[in-house]
Amino acid sequence: MFENSERTEISKLGEFGLIKHITQKIKLNHPETIKGVGDDAAVLNYKKHTLISTDMLVEGIHFDLTYTPLKHLGYKSVVVNVSDICAMNGIAKHITVSIGISNRFSLEAVEEFYSGVLLACEKYKIDLIGGDTSSTPGGMFISITVLGEIEPTQITYRNGANENDLICVTGDLGAAYMGLQILEREKSVYKSNPAIQPDLEGKDYILERQLKPEARTDMVQVLSKLKIVPTAMIDISDGLASELMHIAEQSGLGCVIYEDKLPIDPLTYETAREFKLDPTTCLLSGGEDYELLFTIQQKHFEAIKNIKEISIIGHITEANDTCHLISKGGQKHKITAQGWNSFANN
Ligand code: ADP
Ligand code: MG
Repeated sequence: MFENSERTEISKLGEFGLIKHITQKIKLNHPETIKGVGDDAAVLNYKKHTLISTDMLVEGIHFDLTYTPLKHLGYKSVVVNVSDICAMNGIAKHITVSIGISNRFSLEAVEEFYSGVLLACEKYKIDLIGGDTSSTPGGMFISITVLGEIEPTQITYRNGANENDLICVTGDLGAAYMGLQILEREKSVYKSNPAIQPDLEGKDYILERQLKPEARTDMVQVLSKLKIVPTAMIDISDGLASELMHIAEQSGLGCVIYEDKLPIDPLTYETAREFKLDPTTCLLSGGEDYELLFTIQQKHFEAIKNIKEISIIGHITEANDTCHLISKGGQKHKITAQGWNSFANN
């Protein structure tokens, strides 16, 4: 890690020096930001309802620095939080970023991480308004809190689905998971022989889906323009199967989805085959795509059906039913939450 780059010890700057260094590049976008970094608390002035969500990322659990560039990690850390605000149908506007780092990390490494954070802030029009900085005995952790705004009538919970609602998903699924498989494979090849160059050729799309995901703020806008408020929504961080079950269970209903309607990129499909995995299983269980899964009333079918980035994959069924997948061959399978459980041994 960082072998060839210049190295400035963080101990040379001290905590305050580091914070000053980190925060001097912040640009603010929103009139709601009365006070950003620099005092004991930030001050905001939201006119609508406030959405708040927090995500923690721990080295060795959520990310692996052997193949994750720090700039990408910074970017992704912001994106996963913005995605949670999208899943409520809201607009993310502010974040706080707290990091824990050891003396393994140089100032240049922290700068790399923050260049990714600030790039995402620029792209998603987010104001970075605070955080905290701590040392750790070895690993790195990141905790980000995001705040967003929403008109009360537009809020979309997980539990609002109704029988016969259409189930929709944005983009394509399973790619981030296959990207991770490639990175893990190359890591183990490297471990057994560091002289071998990683073989990542032709895998750009799935690697980017894993290392540099995007939040679907664009889809929230599309729905808003169509004047569609989904009845339920969730972002796909743990895998389609587990997110579907969250919506169904919390709404007290069942669902059915169709294998032939599930959106998969050809490269995801090919790579799953290469790894001797079933593409549909990868698509159902692979996490970290950060697409949106939502339900809408049937009356919106005409408005939604020709939107390229949205697939209608099934519908909600009656109370106390379970979740089912109808395979390409027409068989009915029960869906289990093979989500991406971070406590599972895998
Ligand atoms: P306190 O002693 O009140 O915790 P700090 O000295 O930790 O204050 O922080 C000073 C200012 O810098 C605060 O506005 C805080 O939100 C901000 N800050 C601290 N660490 C970070 C960080 N890692 N990223 C962004 N802002 C930070
Ligand atoms: Mg502090």
